[in-house]
Amino acid sequence: MPELPEVETIRRLSETHLVGHTVRHVVVTLPKLFRNSTLPDAEMLTGRTLIAVTRRGKILDLAFADELHLLIHFKLAGQWAIVLLDGERHVAGHPVPKPDGDLPHKSTHASISFDDGRIAWYSDIRQFGWFNLVLADDVPGVMDGLMLGPEATDPIDVVRLESLFSRRSVPVKATLLDQKVVAGLGNIYVDEALFAAGVHPSRPAMSLSTQEIARLAEAISPILAEGIRQGGATIIHGKAYPDNDFPAVHGREGEPCIKCGSDILKTRVAGRGTYLCPICQTIQ
Ligand SMILES: [Zn+2]
Repeated sequence: MPELPEVETIRRLSETHLVGHTVRHVVVTLPKLFRNSTLPDAEMLTGRTLIAVTRRGKILDLAFADELHLLIHFKLAGQWAIVLLDGERHVAGHPVPKPDGDLPHKSTHASISFDDGRIAWYSDIRQFGWFNLVLADDVPGVMDGLMLGPEATDPIDVVRLESLFSRRSVPVKATLLDQKVVAGLGNIYVDEALFAAGVHPSRPAMSLSTQEIARLAEAISPILAEGIRQGGATIIHGKAYPDNDFPAVHGREGEPCIKCGSDILKTRVAGRGTYLCPICQTIQ
């Protein structure tokens, strides 16, 4: 569930509440979290100050002193909770564990304690997420290996998108979920972009007209901006709690379409639960 807006929210919270603080202790209770790591020992972070927090696609990059970087991919269910010494909390990502519940939760797999007692807790009920501790020189190589396309928040090159679409007979939804096409989109924001553009998610990518691709490219940025403004989409147990008509379709099965009033349908496309309006998004 953490997609670009949720990871961007985590980035901003970490920048505000963790940068400038020095690591006192790291606890990792799920060794496979580091299955992709080039440096094996998370305790290497101890005594290092967090200098900057950046993001590439859905990957968070925590830059520490002495050229150490901790890359985090939250995958389907990662959550990041920053708890200050006075109990003040800043939580983003997946809604489990409950943002105001006890920590560590049974799905909490790592914690980073900082100098004044503030702690960043990483939880992940699905255990698909990963940590990678690397030296600064190795960050570009790791990112290159992930073959991420252009950032979804940057203006989208319609000509490039059309060229990629023209070679793909798979559903347009699957194409947009591919991080090589655009980096940062996931299940929620792809459903929203396809609804905004009036394109049915099952249509083969190669069947879209130039105008439809242009509409899709235009739809992505404002949806991501709204997601970031809200600190990520609020979707709990598959049900959306929309604000300002966002999400418009995702997590809203059976609710009236905001454009035409028809019932929003839930179906399965590209192996993922997919929401759409059967009137506004026709199969042509
Ligand atoms: Zn509709």
